[in-house]
Amino acid sequence: MELLSLADLLEVQNLDLQIDRLLEKRQSLPELNVYKTVHSRLQELEAKRDTSGTSLKQLDLELDKSEGEFQILETKLNEHETRLFAGGMSARETEYMRLEVQGLRGQREAMEERVLQMLEDIDPARDEVKSLETEIEAANSEKMELEASIKRQWKQIDAELARKEDRKKEAVRPIDDDLMELYEKLRRIKEGVAVASYDHNVCGGCHMAFSPAEQEEAFSSDLPRCVHCRRILVA
Ligand SMILES: [Zn+2]
Repeated sequence: MELLSLADLLEVQNLDLQIDRLLEKRQSLPELNVYKTVHSRLQELEAKRDTSGTSLKQLDLELDKSEGEFQILETKLNEHETRLFAGGMSARETEYMRLEVQGLRGQREAMEERVLQMLEDIDPARDEVKSLETEIEAANSEKMELEASIKRQWKQIDAELARKEDRKKEAVRPIDDDLMELYEKLRRIKEGVAVASYDHNVCGGCHMAFSPAEQEEAFSSDLPRCVHCRRILVA
């Protein structure tokens, strides 16, 4: 009965190690690291795009406002000029109007320069937002591809894990609870390996050799344990 249990326990140990490896593989897919990098790059790009987008909007508003002011100035100038052309004003009024027109022309010129400068500034700002958006799009599709690849691999690993878990359930059944409890405890403190094979006087867990007396002592027990590392031994 005890020997049967130990053989089953070794099977449980093998399955547990396979499960450990699968879990490790699940969490260390190279795509996961790349995903993290792409994700943070995407966040940086989006933050930059938002900042650039805000200043572009600001420039657009200022341009709109200046173009509106330019239009008003132009209309006023035209009206004054029309009145000057029409004549019929006193000399003083005419002189006043002439000076007004002169002033308005100066203002219009300055305004024209400002609008041109704004148009010059707005183009690079617009290009920057556009190129950031292109980068974001590329990073997004890279992220989606990675997601798909991770999901595909996880699905495979999870199916494999489910198969191992099922086999483990079968293997655990004939083992008595006390032995399982000891096994689980040893696994926690012995880097996942609770059961070791005993071969050529050496423990497969800690790789230490036994003297004939130690071997005699260990294997006289119903539950042979390594004299060095206390793992359960299966000859
Ligand atoms: Zn050992």
